[in-house]
Amino acid sequence: MNEIISSTIDSEMNGLILDLQRLIRQPSVSARNQGIIECASLVASIMSRAGISTEILHIDPNYGWNGHTDKDAYDNVHPIVFGEVKSKANPDGKTILFYNHYDVQPEDPIELWNENSFSGKIEGNYIFGRGSADDKGELITRIKAVEYFLKKTDDTPCNVKFIVEGEEEIGSRHISQYLMKYKDKFDCDGIVWEFGYVDEQDRPIISLGMKGLLFIEVLAKGPSSDTHSSLAVLIENPAWRLIRALNTLQDNKGKILVKDWYKEVREFSAEEISLIQEEPFNEESFKNEYSIEKFVNNIAGEETRKALVGKPTCNIAGILSGYTGKGAKTVLPSEAMAKLDFRLVPDMIPEKQFERIQKHLTENGFSKKDISVKFIHGEAAARVSPRDPFVSLVQEATEEIFGSKITSVSSAGTGPMHSFIDILKSPCVSVGSTHVYAKIHSPNEFARIDLLNKATKCMCNIMEKVARSG
Ligand SMILES: [Zn+2]
Repeated sequence: MNEIISSTIDSEMNGLILDLQRLIRQPSVSARNQGIIECASLVASIMSRAGISTEILHIDPNYGWNGHTDKDAYDNVHPIVFGEVKSKANPDGKTILFYNHYDVQPEDPIELWNENSFSGKIEGNYIFGRGSADDKGELITRIKAVEYFLKKTDDTPCNVKFIVEGEEEIGSRHISQYLMKYKDKFDCDGIVWEFGYVDEQDRPIISLGMKGLLFIEVLAKGPSSDTHSSLAVLIENPAWRLIRALNTLQDNKGKILVKDWYKEVREFSAEEISLIQEEPFNEESFKNEYSIEKFVNNIAGEETRKALVGKPTCNIAGILSGYTGKGAKTVLPSEAMAKLDFRLVPDMIPEKQFERIQKHLTENGFSKKDISVKFIHGEAAARVSPRDPFVSLVQEATEEIFGSKITSVSSAGTGPMHSFIDILKSPCVSVGSTHVYAKIHSPNEFARIDLLNKATKCMCNIMEKVARSG
């Protein structure tokens, strides 16, 4: 890549760190609507100062609402920071779009942090704080890549756009509405996704997809109020009803028992299978990290990698009923509730899977009156073909900077990648600076400064290759 840009990135790391600290020190917890507007303006000002033309976008909360989701939770729309630089040398050439988010997860449990959770404290090669990696660290590498090109060449090699959203950590609930409304503004040829992991041996993991998600709430209703538990001889306990209903969903090997659950699951292509076979995965260190002795159903080897990238799940995210305080209370609760998330894979459709769950419960003797199911959130899965030319471009650019690369068929997590591919008709690839054990969403989240440096160079290299690709 361009030597001048590369050495500028090295000599100006301090500027990158200072701006990242400013971002970390502005809490932006979307779950409790804290500091959202303030953080959006801070991002806009850092981007403008970098020479990017910046705009804050809004939508009407009802715009394109699909009628499925929890309407109340959807009314408060967080703005998107949009940025654009037109290349002077290549105005009619290709456009790359960087998708990131400025919101963060809540910092709880606060007592487990070694420092203030929004400190931005530096210790050697590490910078700590909520958002240091996810996603403010990633965002700053994209912004600086553009800034240094503008500073040194007064231009960018290709056209660049930014979408920085404020609802990623609460399910990107309005992103598809934004994408529909601003489809033309966001038009691009390739998208660099908001995160990218680096494994224990410092090899960057390029990820070509994301799993989808169906989030539901299951409510079992019993007597009109909590009652004396001596009445359990006559009154059925909703907690038992709920447990029995949940127990019909999955067998003890992790197979989901809902009829036709796997019907639309897309088979891996031959290229995908060979990527899965090549992908390194250290089972022992993974088990150590999470203090577990074995995997579900005792799987090992290739099966673990296949499960991570392409197996649907049925997970109980939370369960609530009756008395759970200190000591004893003999009570028969009036309600029992569980929250469940199902990871989906291409080409499962969340709405269709939801209907299948409803039907499954009815067929297993749970009437709607006794067990009701609510659709909270749905997101389809996405997978970009390993044969897409944008994929090989990112692979090359990454390998040149990091000296190695791993390509993963899909991340095990969920994000709105499907909406981007579907609406903008553009391939998405994840690559970035986040160490696999960077404690994102947990106390003592960190970013590694050497990886921020490499990721910034990698973004520059990708931009140069995009320019050359046509
Ligand atoms: Zn996150």
